[in-house]
Amino acid sequence: MNLLVMKFGGTSMGSAERIKVAADICRDQKLQRPVLAVVSAMSKVTDLLLDTLLKAEAGDDHGLEANLQILAERHRECCQQMLSRTLNGIESLIGDFRRIAHGVRMLGERPPRSVDEAIAIGERLSALMMAEYLTSTGTPAQAVNGADAIVTDAVFGNATPLMAETRERCRLTIRPLLDNGILPIVTGFNGATADGRPTTLGRGGSDFSASILAAALDASELWIWTDVNGIMSADPRSVPNARVLDEVSYNEAAELAYNGAKVLHPRTLAPLIERQIPVWSKNSFNLAVPGTKIVSTVKSKPGPRAVTSMVNVALVSIEPASAAISGTRIMARALEALAAANAELLAFSSSSYRQSFCFLVRNEELDASMRMLEADLALELTHGYLKPIEVDQNVGLLAVVGEGMRGTSGLAGRLFSAISKQDVNIIAIAQGSSEITISIVVRRDGLERAVRAVHEECS
Ligand code: ADP
Ligand code: ASP
Ligand code: MG
Repeated sequence: MNLLVMKFGGTSMGSAERIKVAADICRDQKLQRPVLAVVSAMSKVTDLLLDTLLKAEAGDDHGLEANLQILAERHRECCQQMLSRTLNGIESLIGDFRRIAHGVRMLGERPPRSVDEAIAIGERLSALMMAEYLTSTGTPAQAVNGADAIVTDAVFGNATPLMAETRERCRLTIRPLLDNGILPIVTGFNGATADGRPTTLGRGGSDFSASILAAALDASELWIWTDVNGIMSADPRSVPNARVLDEVSYNEAAELAYNGAKVLHPRTLAPLIERQIPVWSKNSFNLAVPGTKIVSTVKSKPGPRAVTSMVNVALVSIEPASAAISGTRIMARALEALAAANAELLAFSSSSYRQSFCFLVRNEELDASMRMLEADLALELTHGYLKPIEVDQNVGLLAVVGEGMRGTSGLAGRLFSAISKQDVNIIAIAQGSSEITISIVVRRDGLERAVRAVHEECS
């Protein structure tokens, strides 16, 4: 069917003016082929919704009402500049959010399922505004709740799609719209379990929603509209001379996203690789530039292509108290514990004789990781076979990504000396067997300098 899926991020939906631009892009493309749009909440709205629920839980009535006021004003103002007849629908969705927030206030806690239902309302508000605006300007469109299209497991806050069920659901809810020439505007970020409980896909998850829908509907392309000219050689916020990359491979893009490049949600590419659906990262603030194409193989020469970094991470170090302890067995059990804690290993490094090892996890996964590690290794820790587990949160991760970096001789040495010249200590190094990423853990306060130095070295 030659379907084009397009996702518009928070800044691309950030005001009436931006929503009109997004709608124009949809309209233009729909003249040529069927289009499905996936939209994020207006910028900062998800933060506002989460903060409102926190205030409700804490019993802060004043803060709760003030936030509800801000939410309503922002969307009312947007409607008034686009289409005032949408106001009723907007008020009704805000009423739904208000009801959940007041429920949280009464309970004094935030049940995960209610949180997921509540925070997806940001996306439902923007989908409604965009659909009604498009329809009123002659392009029939319909807002679709992602909960009616994406079927997930029940991990609230970080759900995983069930692809077979999602395909079937999309066949029932979205296909008929496309077949009738209606442009579906689907909420990003959310889904529901097979028995209808609302879920969300993790912060920044609208990219992931778009790729799930592109795969489930066998789209021919996915375009992700954001606020930069494409995927760049570094985050332009910390490296002003970062360059836009014309092309990157699925693997490179996935590694960049996994290692902190916010331009893509880490799980975006997985559903697309199998079906080889090409993806473009494009700038809705600069329609004249083509953006970055993500494809299976790139034509450019192998070597480092981009550097990325992550700050909210913790380095956990484990060391046997004597060489008589089997480090391999301790490592195996530590990894089991991390898996049970649902924690992702961002980097792992070990030394040989001492059998000590360290690994990097996200700060938000640290508590659960430590609980599981301390429970599983309790015996060894109590009897002193293991030194106390050390946690260092004053660190940051820097990752250099590029296909075929192993072929670039002397690269690691060049990276390390570029970092050392900035007086930044390297704490740990890891190179995955994929040879696409070299991960370097440095002191947090030296991270930005290290990123700029490495970017300079690789340019
Ligand atoms: P959206 O709301 O459209 O999803 P995000 O804020 O999630 O947008 O992602 C876009 C931001 O990602 C950019 O503004 C940029 O600062 C940041 N970013 C981080 N790393 C990179 C990179 N390598 N290339 C491009 N942008 C990056
Ligand atoms: N609105 C959600 C968030 O801020 C999802 C997204 O924008 O991708 O996390
Ligand atoms: Mg994003």
